[in-house]
Amino acid sequence: MANKLIYFFGKSKTDGDGTMKALLGGKGANLAQMTKIGLPVPAGFTITTEVCVNYYKNGRKAPPELTADMEKAIKWLEKESGKKFGDVKNPLLVSVRSGARDSMPGMMDTILNLGLNDATCEGLAASTDNPRFAWDSYRRFLQMYGDVVMGVQKKNENDHEPFEEVMDALKKEVKVKDDTDFSAAHLQELVKRFKKLIKDWTGKSFPTDPVKQLEGAVFAVFSSWMNDRAILYRQKYRIPDEWGTAVNVQAMVFGNMGDDCATGVAFTRDPANGENVFYGEYLVNAQGEDVVAGVRTPLMISDMAKDKIISAAHKELNDIRKTLEKNFGDVQDFEFTIEKKKLFMLQTRNGKRTALAYVRIAHDMVKEKLMTPEHAIKSGDPEALNQLLQPIFDVKAYEAAGKEGRLMAVGLPAGPGAASGSVVFSAGKAEELAAKGQSVVLARIETSPEDLRGMIASDGILTARGGVSSHAALVARQMGKVCVAGAGDVEIDYHKGTLKCKGVTLKEGDHISINGTTGEVFHGKIATADSELKQVLVNKTMKPKDSKVFQYYDFLMKLADKYRTLGLRTNADQPDQVVNAIAFGAEGIGLCRTEHMFFEGDRIIAVRQMILAKAESDRKKALATLLPYQQKDFEGIFRALDGLPGCIRLLDPPLHEFLPQHDNKKGQEEVAKQLKISVEEVARLVSELHEFNPMLGFRGCRLGILRPEITEMQARAIFQAAAVVLKEGIKVKPEVMVPLVGFKKELDLQMDIVHRVAGEVMKATGKKFAYTVGTMIEVPRGALTADEIAESAEFFSFGTNDLTQTCLGMSRDDSGSFLPAYQALEIIKSNPFASIDRTGVGQLMKIGVDKGRSTREDLKIGICGEHGGDPSSVEFCHMIGLNYVSCSPFRVPIARLAAAQAALRHPPKAVSAKVVKDSKSKSSSTKSKTSRK
Ligand code: PEP
Ligand code: MG
Repeated sequence: MANKLIYFFGKSKTDGDGTMKALLGGKGANLAQMTKIGLPVPAGFTITTEVCVNYYKNGRKAPPELTADMEKAIKWLEKESGKKFGDVKNPLLVSVRSGARDSMPGMMDTILNLGLNDATCEGLAASTDNPRFAWDSYRRFLQMYGDVVMGVQKKNENDHEPFEEVMDALKKEVKVKDDTDFSAAHLQELVKRFKKLIKDWTGKSFPTDPVKQLEGAVFAVFSSWMNDRAILYRQKYRIPDEWGTAVNVQAMVFGNMGDDCATGVAFTRDPANGENVFYGEYLVNAQGEDVVAGVRTPLMISDMAKDKIISAAHKELNDIRKTLEKNFGDVQDFEFTIEKKKLFMLQTRNGKRTALAYVRIAHDMVKEKLMTPEHAIKSGDPEALNQLLQPIFDVKAYEAAGKEGRLMAVGLPAGPGAASGSVVFSAGKAEELAAKGQSVVLARIETSPEDLRGMIASDGILTARGGVSSHAALVARQMGKVCVAGAGDVEIDYHKGTLKCKGVTLKEGDHISINGTTGEVFHGKIATADSELKQVLVNKTMKPKDSKVFQYYDFLMKLADKYRTLGLRTNADQPDQVVNAIAFGAEGIGLCRTEHMFFEGDRIIAVRQMILAKAESDRKKALATLLPYQQKDFEGIFRALDGLPGCIRLLDPPLHEFLPQHDNKKGQEEVAKQLKISVEEVARLVSELHEFNPMLGFRGCRLGILRPEITEMQARAIFQAAAVVLKEGIKVKPEVMVPLVGFKKELDLQMDIVHRVAGEVMKATGKKFAYTVGTMIEVPRGALTADEIAESAEFFSFGTNDLTQTCLGMSRDDSGSFLPAYQALEIIKSNPFASIDRTGVGQLMKIGVDKGRSTREDLKIGICGEHGGDPSSVEFCHMIGLNYVSCSPFRVPIARLAAAQAALRHPPKAVSAKVVKDSKSKSSSTKSKTSRK
């Protein structure tokens, strides 16, 4: 290898620094950085990640020069530490630890006390005057080395650990309870038995030469990069296999040499709530793994100040805490050891934290000028912001439910938060009980638009079928409802009115509790509490000034707005949803699904009359009844928007969704009564409308083309509403969106109607208003012919729910039965209905953008599929140059942060942006030139 293989960190020289994480791994880079700024770090060296990468490239063979380089490094370390490797009198012992670019806690291997053998152990006993400590260190080393390097491990899950078995046998023989009760002589005997175990197990003797030991350990750490645990972890956190791990070899210091020694872990601030307090724990007379193993209960770090022997180290640690934050620009999670009252720092890294801690720390540290605003944005997990919005289970009650064995099933966590209430199986019952002030959880096999009223009335929604873009999940997210979808083990029987699972049967009205953050379903009650953020922004029951959480959150969101170039819209179809979304930062509506309005009040009767009418005149009569309702809906929406753009989609779903199907005789009877026709006639008409594949059937613009009077009514309602609201002095910006377009002609036919009606309304009301007409791109043909479609369309919005369904040929409603297996087999990395399949669907989108803008340079393009609220998809939308993302109101903060992160990760020159702005983007004038909002 041409490059340097080893980097030193010590008083005499330090080659690396904190910026070199890719080469030295997070641990190695930070050890170098801490050494550089004068913190007490035991000297050592780092073998680079490149060596590991090379090791795998060459069939698990290290570069030939590594042995010589390691020997040189050890010589240097001997000089630096004043000890000698393998020396009988004053032996140098080292730790060998992995260290990837991103920390992968506990996933790879570590070896401590390396350098011990019978002779050096005697030397250590003499030099420390502590034989028990020396033999204990030796047996620990044999145990770790035997396990990690020589493979003395249990053969299957139910076996005992071989070393533990030997140790337990000795405990019985010498009648001691804990390891700590062993005397030096016992430990010496244990060392003998451990060596025999290794020989018996592997046929090889334990290597006594420290140089050989080191070689074995370094290769074992490289190999651990490819152990199952590490591979799984990388998959989950999307860490590339190609990164490799570094190996850190560091002089040992001991926290277990007596009561003037200790070891601990600490955070520079509280990682649970972000408070600026020193937070951590330690153990006196212990080695690092004892703190983690939880055998002894550690003390709080504040107790150290009161410890007569090591209180000075507490003061030093407190100073270091401040130095670390200043130097690393973030909260640090660090490990330390005190050896004979002297403090040593063993590692530091950015601390993992809850969403609450994240917003508070970002707020405080940016204001304290300890953290850069860019880092505050980049370091957050957008998805985790959900934690701030959702009601939560009361912690104690939740734990108790688990202990009592009340967990019934686990489904998809589709709408985060907690809900507890009476289980009901119909929308009607949900409304009835909610009207009585009861908390309700609506349980359905799957939901349809018919259930909407029940979903609104419920605190939580549970379905036995359906995935993350199923109707239930989609509506739940839009409303910010707690939802567990597709809990396959749950059996719901509408006729008997029961929900069964794992031998428990719940009847309508019995208590059930669901956790939409984890997908858990419990029987019985679990107390919940509303989040502060919701109280300030949605319920308005709390003033911003009274909520610190809100202030932290608001600070972060405003910071995000400084960086993001993507616009933010919301998928909303009720004025209250619009108001909520705007409070969360939405700058308009990206999708108003008009069909949801058809289920409100008793207008469904007119909808059904319209659908079932035989003659055009009857259909027109029904539509005339609907018109004022729709107009009022749109008036409400325009008022709530207060001048922001509102993208309203014409009717889209297959018509049968508005009718009770054959498994709902009662519903059909009701329709017969309402429409004054026979039940048989209703049943016959429902049969007539039946389609084998309704999602690819008579829906989308096909409805409006074959039944133009529907489009005419909707366009009239939109424009008349615009005229009314305009007269009130409120600006309006209607955008009429035609769904499921694959042919330019489809759009043209619909546009003809929309433009004609707009002209008629302007003439009749005397009010002039600007409006645009565009289309959704949600079938592959639409994307592939986007250049033609853009000749007519004034904007595009990617309907990625349907585009994913049609690109992959996978039903968005039925894919739940095979998608989990597909993920397990790694055919797909993540659910394509939740996160854009960049290579497939993404390619269509890119083609759509490029072709669309080849015709219309300033074509405004957004996304309104569920992906608009998914951070990875938001990043992709930024990369391909969309103008905005649109998502459900409660996901707006997530998209807001994700958009800012995308802008920081992909600075303007990397994006082929066209400057297009929504004219009421309040702060757009202060944004960078590439703002695409
Ligand atoms: C889509 O298909 O992405 C979309 C937003 O439309 P719907 O989910 O209503 O089909
Ligand atoms: Mg669609």
